[in-house]
Amino acid sequence: VAVFIAVMQACMMVVFLFREGGPFAFPRRSGYFSLYTALLAVTLLFLAIFIRWVKKKKYGAIAGLRMLYVVILCLWCIGITVLDQMGGNTIGVYCYLIPTIAAIMLMSPVESITLFGVSWLIIVLLLVFTGLNAENLFSNLINCSFVTLLSIFISIRYNLSMKTGFRDREIIAMQYEKIQKANELLQQMAFTDQLTGLQNRRSLMERIFGSFEEYHREKRRAEVVMVDIDYFKQYNDSYGHLQGDDCLKKIADILERFAGAEGAEAVRFGGEEFLLVRVEDVTEAQPLEINKTGTSDNMAFNDMAERLLKEIREANILRSDNGQTQVTVSLGVWKGNLSQIDKVETIISYADQAVDCAMHAGRY
Ligand code: GH3
Ligand code: MG
Ligand code: MG
Repeated sequence: VAVFIAVMQACMMVVFLFREGGPFAFPRRSGYFSLYTALLAVTLLFLAIFIRWVKKKKYGAIAGLRMLYVVILCLWCIGITVLDQMGGNTIGVYCYLIPTIAAIMLMSPVESITLFGVSWLIIVLLLVFTGLNAENLFSNLINCSFVTLLSIFISIRYNLSMKTGFRDREIIAMQYEKIQKANELLQQMAFTDQLTGLQNRRSLMERIFGSFEEYHREKRRAEVVMVDIDYFKQYNDSYGHLQGDDCLKKIADILERFAGAEGAEAVRFGGEEFLLVRVEDVTEAQPLEINKTGTSDNMAFNDMAERLLKEIREANILRSDNGQTQVTVSLGVWKGNLSQIDKVETIISYADQAVDCAMHAGRY
């Protein structure tokens, strides 16, 4: 708006420069020319300050500057109107400029009532007490009063609609936040096993092995331990499903704690089958020697499976239905370099075969 006003003033000044007699031919013309020059100068000054303050992010001060500019515009408008009255013209400039200011400058109701009210008072006093354009006084007073009321109405409507807009945006933002939270919860539920709270098979495939191709390229190595509770169907039959659930939760808790300490991930793979997965970088300090089966013999992994077995034994979850004194598990381990493996499923099937071996070897 300020740029537009500046251009308009410059144009008017050029027009006056080329009028017969020049811009100072008689006092009224000098008055117009001075007002155009003054508004151009003020506008350019305000624009310069505005640009500086925008860069410095002085938004509070900018609001004050804008309000001051609006006040100056109103005063300028009164000045032009007085000059027009000297020439017997209408109060046209006042009638279109004041509503324009109301429509484009965001003001609070108090600000707009004060600004347009005071402007109205000044123009009315000037019209009445200077006796300018006396024959049109009545219609001028009616017109500027109506314009003032209209401007206040426009300004308040504009202010309210902006407020509603802000409120709507706030409501949308709040709803978006709620949807985000619901989404996060759904995501979490989709990747979590309901009974044990461990990650589920989907999480294993998407999150843990989700970057398999990258791991594959980077020749990372992994250790995967499959855990299968021995004779669990029988446990359920002997102690009931609820106690079966309880047993699953206890094993899951052990796995979760253990995985946390080992930098691994614990997953409930299926009914009574769990997985521990640890993917590690291959560092130069620990070079790998891959044997013919794609597994490494000198991996720097400590024997995670042995330690896990010890933890489960120490937890001593009691059972006596199968000739044992506690719940036992069979473990199958795959250790290797991921660059030697074509797809994730291969690792799972190796670990599964290893569990079968453990079972055939007699469990416990
Ligand atoms: P094996 O030692 O050969 O693995 O035999 P198993 O009985 O341990 O395993 P099997 O695969 O034959 O049976 C698994 C059982 O796990 C059957 C099913 O009722 C039980 N199960 C699966 N999910 C749950 C569960 O969420 N809660 C309970 N309580 N039992 C479950
Ligand atoms: Mg099983
Ligand atoms: Mg089993």
